[in-house]
Amino acid sequence: MGIMASFIYEGHPAKYMIAFIGRAKEVAKLSETWGFRISDVRHLGPRFFMPGLVDTHIHASQYSYTGTALDMPLLQWLNTYTFPTEFNYKDLDFAQDVYTKVVKRTLRNGTTTACYFATIYTDSSLLLGEIADKYGQRALVGKVCMDTNNAVPHYKETTDGSSEETKRFIGELLKRKYALVRPIVTPRFAVSCTSTLLSHLGEIAKNNDLHIQSHISETKEEMDVVRELFPDMESYGHVYHKHNLLTDKTVMAHACYLSDSELKLFRDTGAAISHCPNSNISLCSGMLDVRRVLKHNVKLGLGTDVAGGYSPSMLDAIRRTLDTSKVLTIQDPEYKTLTFEEVFRLATLGGSQALSLHDRTGNFQVGKDFDALLINPVVPDSPFDVFPYESTKAILEKFLNLGDDRNIEEVYVAGRKVTPISGVRVVT
Ligand SMILES: [Zn+2]
Repeated sequence: MGIMASFIYEGHPAKYMIAFIGRAKEVAKLSETWGFRISDVRHLGPRFFMPGLVDTHIHASQYSYTGTALDMPLLQWLNTYTFPTEFNYKDLDFAQDVYTKVVKRTLRNGTTTACYFATIYTDSSLLLGEIADKYGQRALVGKVCMDTNNAVPHYKETTDGSSEETKRFIGELLKRKYALVRPIVTPRFAVSCTSTLLSHLGEIAKNNDLHIQSHISETKEEMDVVRELFPDMESYGHVYHKHNLLTDKTVMAHACYLSDSELKLFRDTGAAISHCPNSNISLCSGMLDVRRVLKHNVKLGLGTDVAGGYSPSMLDAIRRTLDTSKVLTIQDPEYKTLTFEEVFRLATLGGSQALSLHDRTGNFQVGKDFDALLINPVVPDSPFDVFPYESTKAILEKFLNLGDDRNIEEVYVAGRKVTPISGVRVVT
């Protein structure tokens, strides 16, 4: 007995959606109804399909130094490592190299959807969109906006320049009509943006019905700076809300220290949170209480936050989410630890909901695009062992806790096989 699925073709370029889900023992009847040959059915053996992983927060431009530079707190870290690195993306050759590597690496690790920060440079941000499209990744791509930077003054924009370049970025990217790549309005965070710029960006997002991403309440030091910069605002959440930047297409990274009233604001506006536990621990920023966010009915997905987070793999984000939840339980034995099933959901469907892409991806529901990973738990060099008496659920748990890209044999986005990557994929 098993489950079988089939796909229906839609549009140009080709996109494949899930047409039906049925039991293998009904294959004869299903082949009649859906018009496929029984000989075309693929038998997976010990392999299984799972929904693709959704990274709701990743800085493609920081990928070059992933795994290093984790020795200082956020604001110092930005000034010392991040801004000088992002300045290099003026150079399209530099951008081409890093962006190609981050897209390939994340795809190989099962990230079928990525929500990217690029840099302040429009042309290299467009290049990131082009590369995601070329390799077949579903992506939201953001040209970063920042008109304030006292520490590294050569890495910032003028207020009007930032708005104008954002409009150019959006216009150019939409003109290219990529099937799965969309622009996302990206104020870096309130520390880096004037009120005027935030207003412009809120307006641009509203006028074009676009996604929005930024950071909120990652560290206490950052929150103090925001309070100084926006003394009239009730809270950090209200800084974004007053500038029309909290909508049902907004995703805010971190949110470690939101008050109940800010969580209510998120729920009422439909804004989502990206939980990035590796980064939160690596930069000693804080620990998000995911259970509390979910109790407030706020949408939540997981993110790697490369390079504050040192792993580009969403499997790591799953593990660090469980670790953080367990540390909260150590601190308070009454705390209800997240289960691996809950965290698996956050890394897939939760992420698609946080990015407002759940009508297209996040799980295997009829009518959604087929974004999937083919997992082989018994691949010869597998990092874990499977025993004959183990249930599928136990094997999935082993993969989530112990597996890696060796177990991810194939990756599909909208029904197209995007890994293993063999040179350049041509879409006609
Ligand atoms: Zn970030």
